[in-house]
Amino acid sequence: MKSCFLFLFLLLSFFSKAQDSVDIDGRLQPVLNQFFEYCDAYGIDYNGKLFQLKNIDITNSLPLEEGNTVMGMVTRDANGAIENILINWVATVDPEILKVVAFHEFAHHFLDYKHTCQDCDEIMAVNNASYFNVARDWENQVKRLFITSPVYRKQNPQVSYMSLGSY
Ligand SMILES: [Zn+2]
Repeated sequence: MKSCFLFLFLLLSFFSKAQDSVDIDGRLQPVLNQFFEYCDAYGIDYNGKLFQLKNIDITNSLPLEEGNTVMGMVTRDANGAIENILINWVATVDPEILKVVAFHEFAHHFLDYKHTCQDCDEIMAVNNASYFNVARDWENQVKRLFITSPVYRKQNPQVSYMSLGSY
């Protein structure tokens, strides 16, 4: 009986350890670090959400066809919690594209974002007609992304958003 409990204890500690590590693709690590710098600047905590994840990965399993290309996505567990952030390998052909696609997917998880529009030049658009339009306007885009995010709004209910039209 004693050894049975010991086994159970070891098994549980193994699983809780496994849950505490996130697999992050080295090509995404610098972009994630940049994203976290903005989180720090805007007072948004990311540690708890980071360790809910299993993988932040570049993959060749996402669709890449004419009319059916998925640049990035989040996958969820049975409870609806995000567990993987996946970026299509094709996004890595250009660092600007990678940055826009990665920030989009990171914002779904860390900032609780849904999409802001179907087709527009915003980071949280379903489709970006041009990633370069977003990249050219990057500082404004990121500022807007953070201060209009659900997480930031919840933490800063006193901030007025009337001035946003000028960004
Ligand atoms: Zn999305």
